[in-house]
Amino acid sequence: MIDAAECVVIGSGALGASVAYHLARAGRQVALLDKHGLGSQTSPRAAGLTSQARGTDLMTALARRAVRKIESFAAETGEEIVFHQPGALKIARLPEHVAQLESEVARGRRLGTGFEMISPDEARAKNPFLEVKGILAVGFSPTDLFLEPSQIPNGYARAAEKRGATLLAHTLVSGIVVKGGHVAGVETEHGTIGCEVVVDAAGAWLRAVAALSGTQVPMVPTRHQLLITQPIPGVDNTQPITRIIDANVYVRPDEGGLMLGGYEPDPLQYDPAALPARFDIAELRLDFSVLHRLADSVREQLPIFQRVPHEIPLKVHRGGLPTMTADGEHTVGPVPSVRGLYVAGGCCVGGLSIAPAIGEALAAWIVDGKPPMDLSALAPGREGRIDEAALKQACRQRYAHHYWESVPAE
Ligand SMILES: Cc1cc2nc3c(=O)[nH]c(=O)nc-3n(C[C@H](O)[C@H](O)[C@H](O)COP(=O)(O)OP(=O)(O)OC[C@H]3O[C@@H](n4cnc5c(N)ncnc54)[C@H](O)[C@@H]3O)c2cc1C
Repeated sequence: MIDAAECVVIGSGALGASVAYHLARAGRQVALLDKHGLGSQTSPRAAGLTSQARGTDLMTALARRAVRKIESFAAETGEEIVFHQPGALKIARLPEHVAQLESEVARGRRLGTGFEMISPDEARAKNPFLEVKGILAVGFSPTDLFLEPSQIPNGYARAAEKRGATLLAHTLVSGIVVKGGHVAGVETEHGTIGCEVVVDAAGAWLRAVAALSGTQVPMVPTRHQLLITQPIPGVDNTQPITRIIDANVYVRPDEGGLMLGGYEPDPLQYDPAALPARFDIAELRLDFSVLHRLADSVREQLPIFQRVPHEIPLKVHRGGLPTMTADGEHTVGPVPSVRGLYVAGGCCVGGLSIAPAIGEALAAWIVDGKPPMDLSALAPGREGRIDEAALKQACRQRYAHHYWESVPAE
């Protein structure tokens, strides 16, 4: 245990570990704390997909930057990483999603992602499990990649430690010390650590941790699940990630099997105040019927999943608690009410893959005193006052239409 650091980062998932690494690389004295094992909660349960087809210039640029940083992860951090880069298909089956794809392709091309429209037959040549009947349009992002997700938090945590950061697993933060409106330290189960900067990257608990300083950061932890089958003949890692916009379903190869996950219309939301501090994501109650319904919603395009699990056995069924925000944007930056307190969260089920870019940007903001780009769209406090019922409703709608550029009015 230490009694002081320049910066304390709470939470060693992908976001916290990335912030800690980038701060340590900039020469800051960092402590990275986690109440559980390092990188053990939602991050290692992710699908590990990148997505550069985004609805705004900012998110497209950050997603592009994150892919570049994963491509050069080993050279930059000194930590080995294994990833597969077959690209990603995005499929429109409704006319309004054709227009959305065309605008994403135009934005992606302008920002250097190489995103292009291809024919349904070209898509099937890339993914032989895809049936083309009913497909109206397909976008292809050639540089999107997938990876085993724990490599991101673990790689950054190890790289941070090599640059002098102190890693403190099994260290629950129970208080944030604020003096004269400025952060002065964090209280943990093993003692107090004095510091001038605190980064709250506590994932599903981010809101509860921010509340320790009297700060409200509205977001809703929301259960998200995926399945991975046992190996299927014909599956290999050169086949692209495949996303179906209207159904909000994604598929990718995984060690010879196929992974399927998606965004159901009626997700299970958690009240962060009611999540016990010691709750471990490993105890999360899972529900296979959600994945069954999602597989059914893409039966015309991906009929192979109709054979899961009776003919093609399951290998993995896992889930975690990413956090949703009312407008579907991440929450990153300084908290207006407490100087020295920053947050990195509100991941909207995309925090694993974008963590390299978010961690880099937030660390630069902390070190330089100003953001490296306009991040006001992600600012904590941008929502103003929002009542809990309206927040949950907006987050549910965002989740249920994850791949849709505009969320339909209810
Ligand atoms: C099934 C599934 C699939 C997904 N697929 C993708 C994908 O393909 N691509 C993608 O980009 N994202 C994906 N996501 C989302 C991604 O997993 C999250 O965005 C990301 O893991 C969030 O990282 P985090 O660091 O905020 O949270 P976490 O990994 O949960 O880390 C937060 C950490 O904070 C610690 N903590 C909390 N409170 C305290 C405290 N009081 N004191 C000390 N430590 C504390 C926790 O123990 C935890 O380790 C997926 C998620 C799931 C569940």
